[in-house]
Amino acid sequence: MAFSKMVKPETTELLHLEVLRSERLAPHWARITLGGGEISKFRPMGYDQWFRLFIPVGGEAGLERVPAKAHKMFGYLKFLRIPDGERPVMRNYTVRAYRPATSDRGAEIDVDFVLHGSAAERTAGPASRWAETCKPGEHVLIIDEGLTFNPERGTDRVVLVGDETALPAIASICASLPSTAKGLAIIEVPSAEDALEFEHPSGVSLEWITRSHSTTPGLLALSALGEAVLPSTQFHAYAAGEQSLASGARKLLVGERGVDKNSVSFCGYWKIGAASPASKAAREAAAEPVA
Ligand SMILES: Cc1cc2nc3c(=O)[nH]c(=O)nc-3n(C[C@H](O)[C@H](O)[C@H](O)COP(=O)(O)OP(=O)(O)OC[C@H]3O[C@@H](n4cnc5c(N)ncnc54)[C@H](O)[C@@H]3O)c2cc1C
Repeated sequence: MAFSKMVKPETTELLHLEVLRSERLAPHWARITLGGGEISKFRPMGYDQWFRLFIPVGGEAGLERVPAKAHKMFGYLKFLRIPDGERPVMRNYTVRAYRPATSDRGAEIDVDFVLHGSAAERTAGPASRWAETCKPGEHVLIIDEGLTFNPERGTDRVVLVGDETALPAIASICASLPSTAKGLAIIEVPSAEDALEFEHPSGVSLEWITRSHSTTPGLLALSALGEAVLPSTQFHAYAAGEQSLASGARKLLVGERGVDKNSVSFCGYWKIGAASPASKAAREAAAEPVA
C-alpha cells in the first residue's frame, strides 16, 4: 500500500463491534452495518476515514487474542503469533457512513464491501467472502486509521478518482465537503448496477465508467482522468483503488499536468493478483463451500 500524508485519528484503541445487519446493494456490493459493543468510543472524522478490520474467520476466540496496536510493526508481529486457524484476517475498509446514537439505538457505521469473486464458487478473498455470508450478531474488531484525504485548509476544489473500492471513500468525501465545493469525480465500476448513487455538491460533476469483464481494473478511470478538464484554480486531488490507478493518477497529475505533489492524496487500495496477508487456515476457509 502506498499512502500519501495522513490525518491521524484521535484514538487507535481496538474497538469491539457487532454486525447489526447486512444488505446486498448491487451485484458487487454488500453493506454491513456495524454497531453495539464499544461503538460509543468511535470518533467519526468524515471524508475517507478508514480502519483496520479484524474478521474472525477462525472463530471469535481469535478476536480476544488480537494485541493492542496490531496495525503497527511490533503489534503486528504479536498478531502473527496467534496460531494459524485462530488468527483473524486483517483488512482495510472505509467508513461509508456514520450515524450518531439516538434515544432508541446506539451509533452505527455502514461499511460497503466490494464482492469480488464468489463465496459459493470459492473464488472470493476472505473479506469479500465474509461480507457475503456474515450474520447479525457476529463480532469484529476495528482500529481507526484516520484520513488519507488531506487538503490544505479551505480547499473546496477537488478532483476525485477511483475504482469501486474507492466509491465509499469518494461518496463520504463528497458528503463531508462544503455544499459550495466544485470539481469532478471519476469512478469506475464493474457494472452499471454497481454505480451506487450518492449525494454530492452540485458543483462536483460525477462521471461513472463501466468497465467490461476483459478490461483491466482502473485503466478506463485513468484514461478518463487523462482527458478530463481540470479545475482552473488550485484544487486537491484524491486517487484510490487498484495500485496502478492510484499511482498512475498521481504520476499523471504531478508529472503531466503540473499539479503540486502536496495537492494529491493517493492510496493503492488493492493490487491485481496480490492477496493481502492471511493465514493458511483463512485461505482454506475462503476456498471451502458456503454452508
Ligand atoms: C485505506 C483503504 C480503504 C479501503 N476501503 C475499502 C472499502 O470501503 N470497500 C472495499 O470493498 N474495499 C476497500 N479497500 C480495499 C480492500 O481492503 C481490498 O480489496 C482487500 O484486498 C479485500 O480483501 P479480500 O480478503 O477480499 O481479498 P484478498 O485476500 O486481499 O485478495 C484475494 C484476491 O482478490 C483480489 N482482490 C482484492 N480486492 C479486490 C477487488 N476489490 N476487486 C477484484 N479483486 C480483488 C486480489 O488481487 C487477490 O488476487 C480499502 C483499502 C484500503 C487500503
